[in-house]
Amino acid sequence: MNTAENIRPASIPACPVCGGQKASALRTAFDDRYGQPDLFALVRCDQCGHCMTSPRLGESDLGALYGTYYPRKHVNVGDLRREARRAVTRLAPLRRWWTGTDNQGQYSVRPGELMLDIGCGSGLSLLEAQAIGAQVRGIEADPNVRRIADELGLQVHIGSLLDEPFASERFDLVVLNQVIEHVPDPDQTLERLRTRLRPGGRVVLVFPNVRSFWCRLSGVRWINWHVPYHLHHFSRGDFTQMAARCGYRIKAVRTVTPNLWTVLQFRANRLDIPRGSPSPMWAVSTPPADRAGVPVPPPARRLVRRILRRIVLAGLMLPLAVINRSIDALGWGDSLMVEIVPVVKP
Ligand SMILES: [Zn+2]
Repeated sequence: MNTAENIRPASIPACPVCGGQKASALRTAFDDRYGQPDLFALVRCDQCGHCMTSPRLGESDLGALYGTYYPRKHVNVGDLRREARRAVTRLAPLRRWWTGTDNQGQYSVRPGELMLDIGCGSGLSLLEAQAIGAQVRGIEADPNVRRIADELGLQVHIGSLLDEPFASERFDLVVLNQVIEHVPDPDQTLERLRTRLRPGGRVVLVFPNVRSFWCRLSGVRWINWHVPYHLHHFSRGDFTQMAARCGYRIKAVRTVTPNLWTVLQFRANRLDIPRGSPSPMWAVSTPPADRAGVPVPPPARRLVRRILRRIVLAGLMLPLAVINRSIDALGWGDSLMVEIVPVVKP
């Protein structure tokens, strides 16, 4: 059995929170989503307690890792446009609050602002910010996004912030939705970002909260350990300390728990995934074009199934939403949402 005693205390690349270089092993960990076979460890910085994945993969390892194991979602440009229009309906903020899907920085953009989304994925966040009235730029490592961005007419740089994309521009808002925990040296990213902000500019980051209620309850099966893709596991305190070290102060902080995450958490708690095997829970869905030959039930039966599924989901989601909104009100939610601004020297 894998226990913390099996791993020797690790020497680590500098801790982004305090700069310390010594850490102690907490326990072993592996990819329980996509089946990457290597064994990793969760370690805690001896100096400040920040939790990290070890060994910490570098930028060059990450390309191969994501290319081989990370799912590439089938993306339909028409669906993205439709979804983005839903973001600006009158009831959209209430729907996002209730479902816990307002854990994304682009919803705080104001009309006329210039926003940069780092790790913009398929570009939905950029379309939503555009619908709100902002100008948008994106950065994304996945080269598959090139085609989608071109079709949507979005300015997306395929690469990283280190390439200095959009060099002549400064931003009112920089957004990192579920990204900073994937970055090998998040302190360097924050320092570099400071130079890309306009006066009065702000950065909104969203990342898993290692002190969350569902993390404490689920232990090793918490879905947001997500080793080895998540390299850093932040608490509110760790992040505040890192931001201060990089020249920022916290302007606002809250937690948001997507109800869907909790449904996935319940499913994950019942599964035992051996190392090296992908989890059926995270299997990539088959694009419609590849489903040829699969028998389709008659329309009446499909309708009945859909209605039943809706009823079951509604029955499950109502109490779940009440629980999650209460947890978030206490600040114990699964994702931390932090707004930081550079400290202006007098
Ligand atoms: Zn540290």
